[in-house]
Amino acid sequence: MSVILRAHNLSRVYPARRGSVTAVDGVSLEIGRTEFVAVCGRSGSGKSTLMALLGALARPNDGSLELEGTDLLKLSRRELSRLRAKRIGFLLQTNSLLPGLTALDNAALPGILAGDSHGQSYDRARHWLSRLGMDGRWDAFPQELSGGQQRRVALARALQHSPALLLLDEPTSNLDPRAEEEILNLLREFRDERRIAILAVTHSDNLASLADRVLQMSF
Ligand code: ADP
Ligand code: MG
Repeated sequence: MSVILRAHNLSRVYPARRGSVTAVDGVSLEIGRTEFVAVCGRSGSGKSTLMALLGALARPNDGSLELEGTDLLKLSRRELSRLRAKRIGFLLQTNSLLPGLTALDNAALPGILAGDSHGQSYDRARHWLSRLGMDGRWDAFPQELSGGQQRRVALARALQHSPALLLLDEPTSNLDPRAEEEILNLLREFRDERRIAILAVTHSDNLASLADRVLQMSF
């Protein structure tokens, strides 16, 4: 199986009032190009920190990280953000939609910021919003949407660039069963299409059961 992401011995230490907290302690993993991997573990076990490291949103204190053969830790900030914008889609644990922008504008934003044409970015935003069942709510602002709808807009935004690697931090947490099912259905379709690698942190057995592999984060 061809590997898209290879992490070796990643560690991340946060300074704390007394000493320090080792949130991620020597994690090594490989993700296949079309693999769906779930990461489970108790709250505080370092899952979000690991996701930030794997998506190169945070720098590890130690270890190495390769995306499609490129050593991410050797890139300049600018090269890194360009690569991230092209190849990685990120759904953060906290709502990160911009409150002053509509659902459509939020979903199109990564394309616009990357310098893609307006038309192309908005076509893709409409495509993903529609596929996520958000037809008719394009003009809504985030605060006018339910939690599940906001999550879908954030997912449409993460998919704006047709990323090769999709990193999802608890994509179904705090959703009602119907909203959870909609996200699960989409992830199931992605898995079956086998065009993208997915790594999802989750507490949901339903989501974990979709994965090819379940990794456990322990303290
Ligand atoms: P999880 O997502 O599994 O709940 P996190 O990665 O959010 O775990 O946190 C792992 C550990 O690192 C926790 O002990 C948390 O308190 C600590 N931590 C997380 N982010 C920070 C930060 N920015 N500064 C200091 N400590 C942090
Ligand atoms: Mg977390």
